[in-house]
Amino acid sequence: YFMNTNELIEAEDKYFINTFARQPIVLDHGKGVKVWDKDGNEYIDMFAGIAVNALGHAHPKLVNALQGQVEKLIHVSNIYYNEPAIEYAKKLLPLTEFDRLFYANSGAEANEGAIKLALKYTGKSEIITAKDSFHGRTLLTLAATGHEEYREPYLKNLPQGFIEVPYNDIEAIKEAISDETAAIMLEPIQGEGGVNVPSKKYFDEIAEICAEKDILLILDEVQTGFGRCGTLFAHELFDIKADIMTIAKGVGGGVPMGAFLATEKVAGGFAPGDHGTTFGGGPLVCAAANAVLDTILDEDLLENSKKVGAYFKDKLNELKEKHDKIVDVRGHGLMIGVELSESGAGYVDKLREMGFLINCTAGNVLRFVPPLIITNEEIDKLRSAKTE
Ligand code: PLP
Repeated sequence: YFMNTNELIEAEDKYFINTFARQPIVLDHGKGVKVWDKDGNEYIDMFAGIAVNALGHAHPKLVNALQGQVEKLIHVSNIYYNEPAIEYAKKLLPLTEFDRLFYANSGAEANEGAIKLALKYTGKSEIITAKDSFHGRTLLTLAATGHEEYREPYLKNLPQGFIEVPYNDIEAIKEAISDETAAIMLEPIQGEGGVNVPSKKYFDEIAEICAEKDILLILDEVQTGFGRCGTLFAHELFDIKADIMTIAKGVGGGVPMGAFLATEKVAGGFAPGDHGTTFGGGPLVCAAANAVLDTILDEDLLENSKKVGAYFKDKLNELKEKHDKIVDVRGHGLMIGVELSESGAGYVDKLREMGFLINCTAGNVLRFVPPLIITNEEIDKLRSAKTE
């Protein structure tokens, strides 16, 4: 490489289609919960690639799994069987209420497939979704996403049939149900929407309605899954079961992967030819996913997410007592939102300059989604930095 930080940023500005408001650093390498930029500045990564790097950076088990697989087989078509993909399905599904899965490459693709399956299985045309939800950037998942501003430029081309209702409002769901309702699609905890945690009663009632009216429940666990919220999947916190669940982000620990999982009955809605993918379920990403899941279980990272998350939340609540600008501290495990009474952008910049990477979502919610391997000591470093 031959460009310095400024030259790289200028080149990006010149060559890339302008879609991201980026932070002004070029990340170069990482180890554990730390990352370094090209100028040698060190950061504690409390953002983890937006809740992706579950094992942190360069975890030896993930690196070894990838290196071993790279030398063996990177890609084969889905018209052949490959062992890591089958091994992973056999390992993951018994940890859930689902019987079958389909591999995709991202959260949006996983959701796209899940929606298609729900429509095909039920033969109905409407899906109830929530305001402030985020399900992806493809036209179908954008139609499902509860942000009018993202949908607005494409209104004439967006798929129809998505009925948006306020989140955590059971009456709104009841009112939105019609004879054409195929499914209710929700995040168990809204991520991009501001780390919004609904009540257990909400999900209990949804489960009842779905059973009574024969409506499917699709849970988007793209951000909340894989230990993020202290349990393997966040809907375990509410003790509910779904018909279809989507995953991505943390599943591959950083390699692009997603999937949708379904019960035996609902999975039967698809037959050969109804859906497909070139890259989904390739041996390389599945080798990574095997290593990530094994490590989460072997190193008890669910417990770590729960324990360190609780410690972090306690400390943030202590801070809230002292600072009027903190309106609310919420979340589960290592998915924590701090709602401010003002914009959070300046705080993100300040923390970055102090050596901590986080982001701000929904305008005024600071979001902390660190790797699941983070310890109380790193949380304490953030505390002492904040008091300085
Ligand atoms: N669903 C949820 C809950 C998400 O948080 C995201 C991304 O932030 C997506 C879907 C889309 O995932 P991807 O960016 O991998 O398409």
